[in-house]
Amino acid sequence: MDSSTHKLSDLADQVRTCTLCRLCEGRTNAVPGEGNFSADVVFIGEGPGKNEDEQGIPFCGASGKLLDSLLATINLSRQDVFITNVVKCRPPGNRDPLPDEKQTCATTYLNRQLELINPKLIVTLGRHALGHFIPDLKISQVHGQPKRHHGQVYLALYHPAVALYNGGMRQTLEEDFLIIPKVLRTLASQ
Ligand code: URA
Repeated sequence: MDSSTHKLSDLADQVRTCTLCRLCEGRTNAVPGEGNFSADVVFIGEGPGKNEDEQGIPFCGASGKLLDSLLATINLSRQDVFITNVVKCRPPGNRDPLPDEKQTCATTYLNRQLELINPKLIVTLGRHALGHFIPDLKISQVHGQPKRHHGQVYLALYHPAVALYNGGMRQTLEEDFLIIPKVLRTLASQ
């Protein structure tokens, strides 16, 4: 194991026993994230839902199935990318994570995971993930448009859960997904 792999595994262990915020009180499992520790692309959702809390795996419910099929459209699988969330424990009743929960969790875990993986592209899923990185942008205005911010390239996408219940959004998400390989090709040629 190289040292980043070691550190990412240690970080995942710390997430599983974390008590830094109130979300630890209601969790079954914390969900550190999974995938390739040297991925070019990291996908970041909002926080675990019911299925994720039960299994400790990110995006393993209905939105995860959609995410898997979207990845397949660009010839990627979960093993090629890293998938995680802004908060690692399920907010009770699937409420939105609170500002202090996002702040504590992301500054302790997500930011460190990203430093260690050092992806070429960060794909944010939904407004919470976008808001963590670039707070002033509106997802409806910037989805599908790569943005460079403090030297890191981001692509904001709608959350797959929204696309599950809205056919128009699903089409938008499918189209936006196709931008991912284009951005990676452009970055590889720079
Ligand atoms: N929604 C998220 O934002 N993250 C998950 O892991 C699952 C559903």
